[in-house]
Amino acid sequence: MIRIAVANQKGGVGKTTSAINLATALAATDHRVLLIDLDPQGNASTGLGVARDARKKSSYDILIDGADVVDCFVASGVPNLDIVPATVDLSGAEIELVEIEARTHRLHLALERCDARWDILLIDCPPSLGLLTINAMVAADSLLVPLQCEFFALEGLSQLLSTVERIRARFNPSLSILGVALTMYDRRNRLTDQVARDVRAVLGQVVFETVIPRNVRLSEAPSHGLPALIYDHRCLGSEAYMALARELMGRLPVQKVAA
Ligand code: ATP
Ligand code: MG
Repeated sequence: MIRIAVANQKGGVGKTTSAINLATALAATDHRVLLIDLDPQGNASTGLGVARDARKKSSYDILIDGADVVDCFVASGVPNLDIVPATVDLSGAEIELVEIEARTHRLHLALERCDARWDILLIDCPPSLGLLTINAMVAADSLLVPLQCEFFALEGLSQLLSTVERIRARFNPSLSILGVALTMYDRRNRLTDQVARDVRAVLGQVVFETVIPRNVRLSEAPSHGLPALIYDHRCLGSEAYMALARELMGRLPVQKVAA
């Protein structure tokens, strides 16, 4: 299973929107996809229409109680896409984890115990570099970093990259950066265009060619409990996420699980 953490400690940059829509695009191209919601806000769970009372088991149980992944997922409404939801309990997990053995490896260990029923795992991280995100980085092969096209886009990135370096040095030497995705791009706004060019100049090839536009359908979809790709598959935002998924696949050595 290919494991990708969607991470950036900056809030509101498009992590969850990217996780949901990439997961949907990958599921639509016949991959079996699992999305783990590792954010106490539970936005990925809500955005995929998992009602609060349907979240019997959650990522909290995996991290704190050592529950198995196969006992904690639910099917989303999207064929081929399952989700381990998050509940508000998870907001206490950062503190509870401190007391627990192997606190950085709880997710990794659960995934090691897991059978091979999914091809691709996406992990939606919270906007922090605490133990939840660290668990995701220890468990993942690679990171996808959404970066909002705004003036302070690169601020905080060095902190993220130095965390990645520390994780590599101590726990997970093969952790790589799969790519940086520019989000909320507004072509009528010269600042966002400048930011996009500056980011490419600084980061180079790691930045995906595909840029996610600012698109109202992307922001409306979660209130219907649907990925934008299902809510309106023809909107510019959905098209962009399908293109991003294709580009991402080109960077991955994915093998499908035999049906
Ligand atoms: P958090 O750090 O709080 O988890 P996040 O990084 O997961 O946030 P999102 O929740 O995906 O970010 O996006 C933040 C807000 O911006 C949401 O209301 C979302 O609907 C909206 N949004 C995300 N991407 C776009 C886009 N391309 N166009 C328009 N709105 C967007
Ligand atoms: Mg989020």
